[in-house]
Amino acid sequence: MKYYSTRDTAVSLSAAQAVKQGLSRDGGLLTPETFPALTQEDLTAMLPMTYQERAARIMGLYLEDYSADELAEFARRAYGPDRFDTRAVAPVKMLDAATYCLELWHGPTSAFKDLALQMLPQLLSAALKKTGETRTACILAATSGDTGKAAMEGFADVEQTKILTFYPKDGVSAVQEAQMVTQRGENVSVCAVVGNFDDAQSGVKRIFSDEALRAELDGRGYFLSSANSINWGRILPQVVYYISAYCDLVRDGRLRMGEKLNFCVPTGNFGDILAGYYARKMGLPVGKLICASNKNDVLTEFLTTGTYDRNRTFYNTMSPSMDILISSNLERLLFDLSGRDDGKVRDYMDQLAMSGSYRVDDGIFSQIRELFWAGSCGEEATSAAIARSYAERGYLIDPHTAVAADVLRQYRAATGDKTPSVFLSTASPFKFCASVLTAIGEAPQGEGVELIDQLQYVTGRSAPWRLAALREKARRFDQTRTKEEMPDAVRAFLV
Ligand SMILES: *Cc1c(COP(=O)(O)O)cnc(C)c1O
Repeated sequence: MKYYSTRDTAVSLSAAQAVKQGLSRDGGLLTPETFPALTQEDLTAMLPMTYQERAARIMGLYLEDYSADELAEFARRAYGPDRFDTRAVAPVKMLDAATYCLELWHGPTSAFKDLALQMLPQLLSAALKKTGETRTACILAATSGDTGKAAMEGFADVEQTKILTFYPKDGVSAVQEAQMVTQRGENVSVCAVVGNFDDAQSGVKRIFSDEALRAELDGRGYFLSSANSINWGRILPQVVYYISAYCDLVRDGRLRMGEKLNFCVPTGNFGDILAGYYARKMGLPVGKLICASNKNDVLTEFLTTGTYDRNRTFYNTMSPSMDILISSNLERLLFDLSGRDDGKVRDYMDQLAMSGSYRVDDGIFSQIRELFWAGSCGEEATSAAIARSYAERGYLIDPHTAVAADVLRQYRAATGDKTPSVFLSTASPFKFCASVLTAIGEAPQGEGVELIDQLQYVTGRSAPWRLAALREKARRFDQTRTKEEMPDAVRAFLV
């Protein structure tokens, strides 16, 4: 199977090349040429499988240059009991007869990014061998908190790779910072950047387009790569949990094979919900895909009006991993819904770059209305959703998950749709202790990782053990740089 650029379908790469390269040179996103069909027989065959087996089976449909044995081994390693704290890997929790929560935070960093970032390093490392690459891949990651930690944990001590993470000095939660500066691994490093997430992100983008620096690194045997959610190697592992959740519900007698299931997804970059769209395209019986945004509601506006407009105020919210105004992965949806019209996608993306907005044609918009429903949830409503979930069901959720829970409630109130629905839980509540404590009516006492103890104490729930152990861990990294000094951090790291 070939991978096309969304901005130029004449570009065609193998899976290994697509994973290694991350982004097409024309700025487009690499996207598979077809979406293999999953029949009911295929789904039935997956019912008795473990999560690892399902992952290897589904990924094998797309990654023809990887062998079945290879993928089975990668999946065993990525989702094994030393990394995930439950054998189910991504368990589906039943909340009532028609409402389920897909818990995606049982991995090593307690965020859903682990599902992709435990797999990507293995795909990349194998891709280096398959393409005869002799240089070392240097992964640069700008993070608003979850991606950087999950990427470092995935790449720690992976052969022929190094990873450097930049995070905004005052833009991540205390637990997130503690997770990053205590990261293990000989090939990792972390650097705080003075400023906000956009400063860190634009700094990384500048490094990627700095030809002189790239040539210098090439001379030292390195090439730059990214662990960002635009890499196909991150989207594909996410397709797996939609299919796996459906199989679990059928296996457990909660759903009839073929019956429709809705998914409500808290999203920012449109990566997670795009994977759900692809699962549906393969034939998974998905009803509506419900897109949940926080106060940064650019996607809600787009999906309900057809106009994307990033010219708006940026808000820092208690769900920071969704504080995004440019949803990169939307480009893949436009490519697909336009019938792979690379010229049209290029035109929309040019308009976005020049004026910050574009409007899709009626053909695309009518398909969007059919597939998606969208809603947003402000700060007070997020707190209220955490409080409601805890009071009514004793179920503790993080602010990102709360956005999804609330938007699902809005969807049902607005449409009366009774289709069984799953909302995705993307982070452990113990990553966002201060917001969660406040929401359930407890004043946070103390700072940073101390709040983990308080949240455990007042709720009687246990934090994931790696978060609870952060207190004891020594800080390994302490550098802070300005945006202008970021290239120096790269040079110093790659000696
Ligand atoms: C990254 C992240 C999201 C949003 O994921 P997208 O790829 O933007 O859809 C939601 N919740 C959490 C906790 C995250 O870390």
